[in-house]
Amino acid sequence: MPVKNRFAELQAEITEWRRDFHEHPEILFETHRTSAIVAEKLEAFGCDEVVTGIGRTGVVGVIKGKATGSGKVIGLRADMDALPIHEATGLGYASKTDGAMHACGHDGHTAMLLGAAKYLSETRNFDGTVVVIFQPAEEGGGGGKEMCDDGMMERWGIQEVYGMHNWPGKPTGSFAIRPGAFFAATDQFDIVFEGKGGHAAKPHETVDTTVMAAQAVLALQTITSRNADPVDQIVVSVTSFETSSKAFNVIPQTVHLKGTVRTMSNTMRDLAEKRIKEICTGIGATFGGTADIKYHRGYPVMVNSEEQTEFAAEVAKSISGQCDDAPLVMGGEDFAFMLEERPGAYILVGNGDTAMVHHPEYNFNDEAIPAGCSWWAEIVEKRMPAA
Ligand SMILES: [Zn+2]
Ligand SMILES: [Zn+2]
Repeated sequence: MPVKNRFAELQAEITEWRRDFHEHPEILFETHRTSAIVAEKLEAFGCDEVVTGIGRTGVVGVIKGKATGSGKVIGLRADMDALPIHEATGLGYASKTDGAMHACGHDGHTAMLLGAAKYLSETRNFDGTVVVIFQPAEEGGGGGKEMCDDGMMERWGIQEVYGMHNWPGKPTGSFAIRPGAFFAATDQFDIVFEGKGGHAAKPHETVDTTVMAAQAVLALQTITSRNADPVDQIVVSVTSFETSSKAFNVIPQTVHLKGTVRTMSNTMRDLAEKRIKEICTGIGATFGGTADIKYHRGYPVMVNSEEQTEFAAEVAKSISGQCDDAPLVMGGEDFAFMLEERPGAYILVGNGDTAMVHHPEYNFNDEAIPAGCSWWAEIVEKRMPAA
């Protein structure tokens, strides 16, 4: 089966919604306008229940099938937030807000899930209940986690969850997925080396934190190259090196390092945290100073469940004729928290030959809408078939 005819009909309307969201990007939990429009549309479609304020600015809509005797409840999730990037697409509907841009295609995700909600409210051709989930703050704010913490899964009895992300460089409307670990855990570290500042011409009277921190930057590379099993994926990147001195003749009292760790398993995550602490504490002591280390755990590894992934791939194949094996992605995804609470699957839909997500020239491809919406609708109709 190719895309559903109804979505070919709805594509122009869904595109209009998408471009309106694109023109008015909102960052993290500040998705007030977007959330209001989403809630308004869900009401207009005739959803059985629409609730705002879940996970601060998140929105939930409930659509009951013709029958609900199966007792099944499926959650479909889209993200709504934009990025703090200055848009450089030159599009007629480019961002009207300086320093904010839909550079990850969440405008498209929101519009596609709204399109699916409209269709499912019209047809109700399933036996069970659909919960459409619109979350804020995917880009580093943990909006999905906040919706879970607000008791969303329990409140609506959600049993399985599905998510989707557009993917530049992949043919428009084609799909890719993988079971098991898919997106990386994303952690951050803050390390402050403290020594004894002083005159750069009298180094023997100081404890030089620059030397300490420089040693640490190099030694941290050995977590990946010497501590981790070579078949495991791990990235340790130091991304900021800031000394407390701006002068050429002062040895700084402190140096502050920042960085990120990306891993695909809790074993690697634990290893990275342990080694960062050991290495930096050791280096501080070796050079006569101290190291204060803060390791902050961000999004966990996003793990696709076996059964739901197989099912999601079958649905994708029925729509676009194929479903590729997706590569591991070392980026993070807030949907990981929902997949920790319920089994489910997350799929990539091709965005065609566009700039990569998070690039100022990126744009969501509206031609992917029929395939994306069809996947949502088919997940529901095939997983909870009407009698
Ligand atoms: Zn993103
Ligand atoms: Zn994204």
